[in-house]
Amino acid sequence: MDDFLWGLIMLFQRILSQPVNRLLVLVMVITALLPISLLAVHLNKTAWDNGWREIREKHQLLAENLASPIQIYVDDHFAALGLLSETIKPVISRSEQLSSVLSITVDKLRGFASMAYVDVQGKMLAYKIANDIAVDSKPVSPYLFATERCFLFVRQTDKQYISGIKPSPFNLKPTIIMGMPVFNAQGHLQGVLLGELRVSLIEKLRKQIKFGKRGHSAIVDQNGRVIAHPNPEWMVEMKDLSSWPIVQAMMAGKRGVTEFYSSFVKQDMVAGYASVPGTGWGIMVPQPKGEVAAQVNQFMHSNYLWGGLGLIAAIIIGVFISRWITRPINRLAKASQRLLDNDLDGDIAYPQDYEPREARQLGFALKSLVRGLQHTKHEVAELNRNLQYRVNDATKKLRVANRKLQETVKSDFLTSLVNRRYFEMDLSETLSHRGDDSSHLSILLFDIDNFKVINDTHGHAAGDEVLTHVARKLEQFMRTGDVAARYAGDEFVLRLCCDHRVAMSRANQIRQAIEDLEIVWRNTRLQVTVSIGIYSEILSEEMDVRNILHKVDIAMYEAKKRGRNCVKTFNHDMATVHHLR
Ligand code: GH3
Ligand code: MG
Repeated sequence: MDDFLWGLIMLFQRILSQPVNRLLVLVMVITALLPISLLAVHLNKTAWDNGWREIREKHQLLAENLASPIQIYVDDHFAALGLLSETIKPVISRSEQLSSVLSITVDKLRGFASMAYVDVQGKMLAYKIANDIAVDSKPVSPYLFATERCFLFVRQTDKQYISGIKPSPFNLKPTIIMGMPVFNAQGHLQGVLLGELRVSLIEKLRKQIKFGKRGHSAIVDQNGRVIAHPNPEWMVEMKDLSSWPIVQAMMAGKRGVTEFYSSFVKQDMVAGYASVPGTGWGIMVPQPKGEVAAQVNQFMHSNYLWGGLGLIAAIIIGVFISRWITRPINRLAKASQRLLDNDLDGDIAYPQDYEPREARQLGFALKSLVRGLQHTKHEVAELNRNLQYRVNDATKKLRVANRKLQETVKSDFLTSLVNRRYFEMDLSETLSHRGDDSSHLSILLFDIDNFKVINDTHGHAAGDEVLTHVARKLEQFMRTGDVAARYAGDEFVLRLCCDHRVAMSRANQIRQAIEDLEIVWRNTRLQVTVSIGIYSEILSEEMDVRNILHKVDIAMYEAKKRGRNCVKTFNHDMATVHHLR
């Protein structure tokens, strides 16, 4: 049970989570189906009842309509008999004239098959059989009607009488005998006028009532025997149907509609029935129940057809309305999804005038929102582009400034040679990364002799000029891998990749080149010399920058001491002397 409920809840959830257009069609169909179904149930019942009532009424009406002409037919023939009974009174005693009157009447009134006049003793004084009626050639007994019930009744009661269906006394064929009393001048019964009513004319009337496939009519007499019926055999044998309830009802003078089983058609029948007043005859109009049901069903089918058409119309309208409502909603949903995905590039279509007002309002709102966002996005992109440009520009400038700074940090501003800090750092790196390198290294320290004098004599600017010229000259002697730096004030230091012998030679060449240097300052030729200290060694791990510079400084000091403008190489004696000093 729980599983069933759970399944039901899941089904509802699944239905409710469907897209709006499907839900709308579903709602439309249910909305249309509910009243149509209720109406259909009601209509079905009403239509079935009405159909039945209508058909029953039709059957009864038909039976009653047939009863009237038959009654008229019988009444007219009674009237004719009555008239004739008056007419024959003067000629009763003259048998030839009586026969002549009867003969004329039978010829003229086609409803009678025969006529006879019987006196109160039962003797037939005259008779006439219609020419088209076949009879035996044997002579007719004058007392043919003496025991006839019709004659006996009229003689006894002095009243007219009509029999049921019965064999004709003339030829034993089915007939109906009518009797009319004939009175003398004193009003006493003189005889009975008898007439055989033609059954074929009644059958002719009956035949006109025919409907459906097997719907028909039938006429029975007051004893329940067949007078007219579609089955000719039943008519010939004057079949007794008095056991049928419907026939019993007719014999009782009732009218109405009933159902019964017909052994003739072999089906259940629905029949309207009525009785013919004055005769006790009954008329029934039966039709197979299946045919009646088919008629009602046909009526119902047209109702179902209209109901179905209504439902189809509801579905078509439902689809149309759901599309009308959901199309703009779907468009908005798609646009919203694009917003969620951060896709602002596509444009949102303008809402149409025929779309629902709320959907249009939403559409316009979303459109202006997207436009605002697109605008903002463009502004942000523009800002980003500007920012990127500025950052790139600033980075470029920063790189240039940084390069300049690095140059400034490592170079000497006056001579553009590298400075002492860089020189020491570079030397230290060379020593630490020397690896298996066992090449020679020579450090030369230069100091300009009596530089103060130049400054003092020609000014500081002249000193600067001298420092610059000396630096340029040093550069000219540099080879690949060599480094020239301004060490301090009027001191320069060189790092040469050569052994002591070569270093000594190159130092002397440089010293001589500086001595020969022509420096003109304000029309005055300035001449300078340098004292040079050398320290050479094969690269080794024990070497230390401080130590090397200290040693070369000692050598340079020694050159100063030895009279300047010369080159001195470091040795340990110098170190001792220097230490003592
Ligand atoms: P010595 O032969 O013993 O070296 O005598 P000197 O006069 O050269 O004495 P010293 O080397 O000690 O003097 C260096 C002078 O260099 C002192 C200082 O005023 C001067 N000086 C230092 N830096 C600069 C500079 O950048 N420009 C100028 N014009 N002079 C400087
Ligand atoms: Mg000096």
